[in-house]
Amino acid sequence: MAVLAAAVVIFRLTGRIGQDVGPDDRFVVVRVIDGDTVELKGGDILRLLAVDAPEKDDPYYEEAREFLTAMTLGKPVRITYGGGRRDRYGRLLGFLYVDDTMVNQAILANGLGYLYLFRENTGLPEIAGLLTAQKEAIASGRGLWAAPRSPEDYYINKSGSFRFHRPGCRSIGELRPGTYRIIATREEACAEGLSPCRNCRP
Ligand SMILES: [Zn+2]
Repeated sequence: MAVLAAAVVIFRLTGRIGQDVGPDDRFVVVRVIDGDTVELKGGDILRLLAVDAPEKDDPYYEEAREFLTAMTLGKPVRITYGGGRRDRYGRLLGFLYVDDTMVNQAILANGLGYLYLFRENTGLPEIAGLLTAQKEAIASGRGLWAAPRSPEDYYINKSGSFRFHRPGCRSIGELRPGTYRIIATREEACAEGLSPCRNCRP
């Protein structure tokens, strides 16, 4: 009985550790949390790398979640990583594949999320394809790119940052000459690979 109990404990431990081994692990998606986050069999949470899906109160939140559900729920998936395996919340952070289709790219191609860059992930080989997918979605007005919005006169991008803001955003801070750029439209900003600030939500 003790042996059996020990075996169960060891199985559980290795089961959990097993989620984090090898560059091309296979998993099954057991729950879709939102448009860019899923739960894997075994309890690990995966945040899709370089993609930011609409937040709960934003247009296309439900559509993004439903898209990810239809694409991944109950299916065997593969993950590749882009440097660090986990984010600061302990979630796995990676590119998710169903067969040969990269889910991260499919989300952007359908206009159901924004390319989400950081200094740490801009150099990854996958990023060019993601940006191309986003540009095509913008040009064709797919998904959230068709949602009506009241545009600002212009948007602001601070040097070295991958976000853009509404002119009045409080998280911009001081605007000294030479430390920021004016961008005419949100589409233009996103076609460059910038993503909307999470505070002012342009
Ligand atoms: Zn902002």
